Amino acid sequence: MTLHKNLIDGEWTGTDGNDNINPSNTNEIVGRYARGSAADLEQAIAAASAAFPAWSRSGILERRDILKRAAEEIFTRREELGALLAREEGKTLPEAIGETVRAGQIFEFFAGECLRLRGETLPSVRPGIGVEITREPLGVIGIITPWNFPIAIPAWKIAPALAWGNTVVFKPAELVPGSAWALVDILHRAGLPAGVLNLVMGQGSVVGQAMLDNPGLSGITFTGSTTTGKRVALASIEHNRKFQLEMGGKNPMVVLDDADLPVAVDAAANSSFFSTGQRCTASSRLIATEAIHDRFVAALIEKLKSLRIDDALKPDTHIGPVVDDRQLQTDVDYIEAGRQEGARLAFGGEILQRETPGFYLQPALFTEVTNDMRIAREEIFGPVAAVIRVRDYDEALAVANDTGYGLSAGIATTSLKYATHFKRNVEAGMVMVNLPTAGVDFHVPFGGRKGSSHGSREQGTYAAEFFTTIKTAYTKP
Ligand code: ADP
Repeated sequence: MTLHKNLIDGEWTGTDGNDNINPSNTNEIVGRYARGSAADLEQAIAAASAAFPAWSRSGILERRDILKRAAEEIFTRREELGALLAREEGKTLPEAIGETVRAGQIFEFFAGECLRLRGETLPSVRPGIGVEITREPLGVIGIITPWNFPIAIPAWKIAPALAWGNTVVFKPAELVPGSAWALVDILHRAGLPAGVLNLVMGQGSVVGQAMLDNPGLSGITFTGSTTTGKRVALASIEHNRKFQLEMGGKNPMVVLDDADLPVAVDAAANSSFFSTGQRCTASSRLIATEAIHDRFVAALIEKLKSLRIDDALKPDTHIGPVVDDRQLQTDVDYIEAGRQEGARLAFGGEILQRETPGFYLQPALFTEVTNDMRIAREEIFGPVAAVIRVRDYDEALAVANDTGYGLSAGIATTSLKYATHFKRNVEAGMVMVNLPTAGVDFHVPFGGRKGSSHGSREQGTYAAEFFTTIKTAYTKP
């Protein structure tokens, strides 16, 4: 089987590899991908440092054209790239094609941003002197990504980094090297000079750790677990570099008595269970007020009964498998913990057998959950949701905010008063009214508060906060 190699200084290199396994059918190898070493990572950082001076001063039209060519190829190959993504990650084909299109849209957006990096001029307090405030590229950026969005998350970190003149060393998650490799191959062929974008696939504890320990990076942007995020933060402080972290969520969705029931049920089913619940913006706490609680639970269970859990590539599948055996075990352990703590498993939670061996899990819905139970406090990252019964809106808001996380929050209501109050008072970076907590646009800021995020926002023009550094220049003519 062909080995998909690492890209270091414009050359494809590597001899050792790992098999990329399909979670819908563990007998199927999606491909073989290089397993990089700490030495590979060091070489990649050296190459990115050497490429930085020329790339950071390159013409904005050159950068624009390269990103635009990459976007066009992603759009043209959406079906094939989507199928690869679905095979390696396990989300359904429509979800995977949607994610691929989004990656194309991100490159298209940042192609335009190459031409729009704004500065400011102000008069100095000293008469006759001018002050210019400009943004410059940050330097060499390390990018570490998780397995749940194998092409969109790399896209939303790589595109702004390159658009604004940075060079990159990219380490994707071990479980999903296929989409990462395809994306880097596209960008390489789109005309990036050697060393501007380097790919080092391999283990987090080896390649990722070597990135954290290297003093040659100006910044690291990371999406993944809270535990690794803390390591990124501590190592970055040690090396005096900028860092940006997107970590977990325990996102609430409030359902008020006056909600439109089908709207609430669709939003809850989508954001709790689609993409197998493996989204940091998934709603895992469904907070329902007294008068709608029982109707909401009954309608949600009816909806869950109609969902088919099967091979990600089958056309009638609604929910694909869990990503791997380790995550499946975590999900099963949390389901057991929920039972032990006295919550009622109102639906699902069974491991399912399908035609092919895979990690199939029935969506699990708990009721009679209190907000202090582990299933209401810890991020599970699987198709498991907890319904919490509350008296009224005030209690719902208090429970929504009683969490260590603050990424996304939703409310289902027909009341302008409560919707407005919730938008202003919920402690989250993103708020959704009558919409799933997951599912965001690509041109506006993404990020959270409290334990969910650290540093400035990703995506849209706000991404410049991380990927550029500010210079204030004073001129006496
Ligand atoms: P998950 O548990 O969801 O896989 P991780 O935080 O372990 O979340 O993984 C997110 C990314 O961080 C992956 O690319 C992984 O390889 C990487 N990673 C894991 N451990 C380390 C580490 N010690 N240093 C740097 N990166 C790491």
